[in-house]
Amino acid sequence: MSFWFHGIIGFGDKVINLYGYTLEGLAEFLLANGQKKFNAVQIFDWMYVKKARSFSEMTNLSKDLRAFLNSTCCLDLLAVLQHQVSADGTQKFLFGLPDKFAIETVLMAQDYGMSLCVSSQVGCNMGCAFCASGLQKKNRDLTADELVGQVMTAEQIAGTKVTHIVVMGTGEPFDNYDNVIRFIRIVNDAKGLAIGQRHITVSTCGIVPKILAYAEEPVRSNLAISLHAPNDELRASLMPINKRYPLKDIIEACQIYFDKTSRRITFEYLLLSGVNDAVALADELSDLIRGLNAYVNLIPYNRVSEFAFERTDMNRAMQFYDRLIKRGINATLRKEQGLDIDAACGQLRLKSDR
Ligand code: SF4
Repeated sequence: MSFWFHGIIGFGDKVINLYGYTLEGLAEFLLANGQKKFNAVQIFDWMYVKKARSFSEMTNLSKDLRAFLNSTCCLDLLAVLQHQVSADGTQKFLFGLPDKFAIETVLMAQDYGMSLCVSSQVGCNMGCAFCASGLQKKNRDLTADELVGQVMTAEQIAGTKVTHIVVMGTGEPFDNYDNVIRFIRIVNDAKGLAIGQRHITVSTCGIVPKILAYAEEPVRSNLAISLHAPNDELRASLMPINKRYPLKDIIEACQIYFDKTSRRITFEYLLLSGVNDAVALADELSDLIRGLNAYVNLIPYNRVSEFAFERTDMNRAMQFYDRLIKRGINATLRKEQGLDIDAACGQLRLKSDR
């Protein structure tokens, strides 16, 4: 079963959207405008804990401050262009941005909580051969307030609290590094949404210098690598980025990330029938990542009509999984979610005219 919601939560015309500020950034902004720094904590609390939708609700702020905020800032959420709900509870949103581009966000009910998959860019330049998002070149990076806006708007429409975030939707997060890191700091802040650092995961196709930078960030969120192949030849045929950053460099960067953070790394591996799902490749994959504290997340492929790739059947997927386990590699075979909606990354946006 799925149903559709068409509607708009309106855009304001103010320039500064406060959802783009970290708590420290908000304090500096207030100070620079002749206001009191300490009000930042109260405003943050209204925005993220009390979920205020207007400055006039913030009754413990002075009238002057509320007037200042009203005249210069906004708390705009994203426009909801479409909302699909799958029979298994997965919810997919097509959000409209002020410049009329659109992005996708997916909310999944998991055993451990409500996980939101956010987009980081409008389109993507990485050109992965199997990906609907990559069919549309990058138009622009998302701003930090648009990243936070996905969380706040999804929570409001779904009437739920997001407990986990994966930056795994459209776009390469490390190609929009600064905004993504700012987003993580905002949603992680204990005085705001307080989403724990272990509950936030960034998934990259393997931009090595940014993996190394990520290892140094004070908020220790998780790292996932979209691997999809255990050797350079096959991986480069699926993911052009591999020509720039081959597997050896990625694995070295992962080791450095682990040494600095002690965080287990996830390798995402999309199973494509007859392409990367042979048991011999499971052996190669085991050899490649042996010694790293990592696990492999095997993902069934959601067919995209523009591509010839097919989903690996469950028997073959189980053989691949069993081989990894037999060779001492931690692995999971992801359950399929949202099959009755356009669940593959980028499919909803492709069907829209934005
Ligand atoms: S899989 Fe990710 S990095 Fe590759 S084209 Fe799609 S959105 Fe971009």
